[in-house]
Amino acid sequence: MSEKFQAVVIGGGPGGYVCAIRLAQLGFKTACIESRGSLGGTCLNVGCIPSKSLLNLSEEFHKVKNLSNKGIEVGEVKLNLSKMMKSKDKAVTVLTKGVEFLLKKNNVSYFKGHGSFKSKNEIIIKGEDNKETSINADNVVIATGSVPVSLPGINFDEKIILSSTGALKIEQVPKKMVVVGGGYIGLEMGSVWSRLGSEVHVVEFLEHITPGMDREISLEFMKILKKQGIKFHMQHKVEKIQKNTDGAIVTTTDKEGNKKDFDCDVVLISVGRKPNTEGLNIQAAGIELDEKQRVKTDKNFKTNQENIYAIGDVIVGPMLAHKAEDEGIAVAENIAGQSGHVNYDTIPGVVYTTPEVAAIGKTEEQLKEMNLDYKIGKFSFMANSRAKAIDDAEGFVKILADAKTDKVLGAHLIGPHAGELIAEIGIAMEFGASSEDIARTCHAHPTFSEAVKEAALSVDKRAIHS
Ligand code: FAD
Repeated sequence: MSEKFQAVVIGGGPGGYVCAIRLAQLGFKTACIESRGSLGGTCLNVGCIPSKSLLNLSEEFHKVKNLSNKGIEVGEVKLNLSKMMKSKDKAVTVLTKGVEFLLKKNNVSYFKGHGSFKSKNEIIIKGEDNKETSINADNVVIATGSVPVSLPGINFDEKIILSSTGALKIEQVPKKMVVVGGGYIGLEMGSVWSRLGSEVHVVEFLEHITPGMDREISLEFMKILKKQGIKFHMQHKVEKIQKNTDGAIVTTTDKEGNKKDFDCDVVLISVGRKPNTEGLNIQAAGIELDEKQRVKTDKNFKTNQENIYAIGDVIVGPMLAHKAEDEGIAVAENIAGQSGHVNYDTIPGVVYTTPEVAAIGKTEEQLKEMNLDYKIGKFSFMANSRAKAIDDAEGFVKILADAKTDKVLGAHLIGPHAGELIAEIGIAMEFGASSEDIARTCHAHPTFSEAVKEAALSVDKRAIHS
C-alpha cells in the first residue's frame, strides 16, 4: 500500500523546501521530492549561491591586486582557480546539507528521486537505482522550477558552449569569453570571469542591458561595467556559433546588417530560462499549462485541479528565489485554509555585481506608461560620507513617489550594498510609507543608508548634502 501524505511538494528548491517546511509547521504530514540528489534547487546548487560565492571571491582577488593604490603593499597575488572553486563548492554543500537538516527537523519526509503524476492523488518516485515508490497525496504542490534555454539549434556542451551552470565551473580562466545576453545572470558571470582575467564581450540583441530595469540605472550600470573593462555589443543578433578546436566563433549581425565574428574560448548563453515540467506527466493529472508552458494557476496558486497547486519559477512572474519562497509560504497557508498572499509590487530584484544594483516597485518608464504623476528624488553616493571614506562612491539612489500623496512607488539603486539598502524601502512600501516618512527617519551616520534618506529628502527638493 502506498504511504499517504496530506501534502506532497515536488521539487526541493527555495519554493519547494520552504513550502514543505511551512506545511509541516501548519500540521500537515508532508513529503518533499527532489531529483537532483541535493536540496536547495537551482538557487543553492547552480544559481544564487555559487554565483554569489564566485562574485565575492573574484571581487576579493581583484581588490587585493589593487590594494597598493590604497597604501597597502602586498606580494605577488596569484589566482588558484581550483581552490577558489572548492571554496565555492563548500558553500554550496554546507547550505544544501543545512536544508536537509531543516526538513528533518520539521518532520518532512524527503524522497530522493524524480516525481511524476500517476493520477491527481498518486505520485510515482523513481529513485537513483531506478526503483519506483508510489505515494498518495491529498494536496500536491508543483515546485519544479526552471532550466536554462539556449538559442535555436545550439546545444550546451558545458565546456565551450556554456549555460550558467557551466560558467560556474570553468576549469581554466578563458582568454576570451562571449556572453550572449545582457541580463543579470550574464552580467554577474561576465563580471566574475572579467575580474579573474578574461576579456569579456557581451552581445545583446536590444539597445540596453537588463531589460525591465529603470532605464537611467541601466545606462549608468553599463557605463560602470564598461569602465571595468567589459565590452558591449548592443543591437547585435547572434546568427550562429561554430565550435573549432580551441573554442568557438560567434557570428553576429548588427542592426545595419553588418556581420561580425567573435573568436573566443567559451560562449556563455544567458538568454533566459524556461519552466520545467519535463517528465512530470502532468497529463495524468489533467493540469493545464499557459501559452509559455508555465503551469497555469489562479491567484491562490491553485491549478485547474482542486488539490494541485504550483509556485516559483514554474509559474508566471519573475524568476527569483525570494519570490518562489514567498509563494511557497502563501500556498501552504492557503492549503491550511488561511489567507496566504504575495505582494508582487514589493518584490525586490538585485544584481550582485560591483557596484550592486537593486530595484523595487515601479520604474520611471512604467509610471509614464501608467500616466501617473510622480516626483523623483535622487542622491549620489559621491556625496555620501561613508562611501567617500572607503573610496566606493559610484552610483546613486533614485526614489519615485506619487506627486499628490508622496507615497513611495518605486526605488532604484546602483551603488555599494544596494542589495541590502533596498530592504528598507521594501518595508517602507509594505507600510504604504511616503518619501517624507523615510526622510524623517533617523539614519545612522556614517552609513550608506544615509544616501536613501537624502534621496527621500530630495523628492521634496530638500536634500542637505547635495
Ligand atoms: P528551482 O530552484 O529550480 O528548484 C526546482 C527543483 O525541482 C530543482 O532542484 C529540480 O531538480 C527539482 N525537480 C524538477 N522536476 C522534478 C521532478 N519531476 N521530481 C523531483 N524534483 C524535480 N534568484 C535570486 O532571487 N537571486 C539571485 O541572486 C539569483 N541568482 C541566480 C543565478 C543563476 C546563475 C541562476 C541560474 C539563477 C539565479 N536565481 C537567482 C534564480 C533562482 O535560482 C530561481 O528563481 C529559484 O531557484 C527558483 O526556485 P524554485 O523553487 O521555483 O525552482
